[in-house]
Amino acid sequence: MTSAAEALQRLIEGNQRFIAGEATGVLTEGAARDALKDGQAPFAVILGCSDSRVAPELLFDQGLGELFVIRVAGHVVCAPALESVELAVDKLGAKLVIVLGHSRCAAVSAALEEVQSPGTDASNKIASVIDHIRPSVEAVLKTADDRDQAALLEDAVRTNVRVAVSQLREDSALLKEEVQSGGVLVLGAEYSLETGCVDFFEGLHD
Ligand SMILES: [Zn+2]
Repeated sequence: MTSAAEALQRLIEGNQRFIAGEATGVLTEGAARDALKDGQAPFAVILGCSDSRVAPELLFDQGLGELFVIRVAGHVVCAPALESVELAVDKLGAKLVIVLGHSRCAAVSAALEEVQSPGTDASNKIASVIDHIRPSVEAVLKTADDRDQAALLEDAVRTNVRVAVSQLREDSALLKEEVQSGGVLVLGAEYSLETGCVDFFEGLHD
């Protein structure tokens, strides 16, 4: 079983290969598929945004069977997402859980606009997603001072990641126990659309 520290190192190295244009596309051949047919042991769980530009297997340069990925707009911790993370930790033995936000997230941007000007078009279409992100946005706007919209969005993206990390650690008895005694690490990260770099900014030094 891969430890949380080893898993994190694999993700960091995979992201470095991706940035350098040296992605290996490991474990995508038929032989790998065959080897995985009887079971899986993913070394990390990624709860990320559905944005087509933020595909975890690609930006961490990982292949079949290596990442257990849950994707939903704004990586909101809805019940099925939380249960999916629990499944990967409890039944498949993953020791590292990453909440992966990203720059210029449209879901977070829609929530920001909705809180600033209620009744936006997006509020009807992704109302449940916005409801999940709303507390993060409201917290950011409380200390908004005179920052422009881009700066507010940057702050809201990171706050939304921090809130999701906290929810995974606190709202799930299973994850709480695994974090306290089972060697599981829950971290928050942001992927930069501009540079391709993943910054693990939340939870590493708790
Ligand atoms: Zn997004």
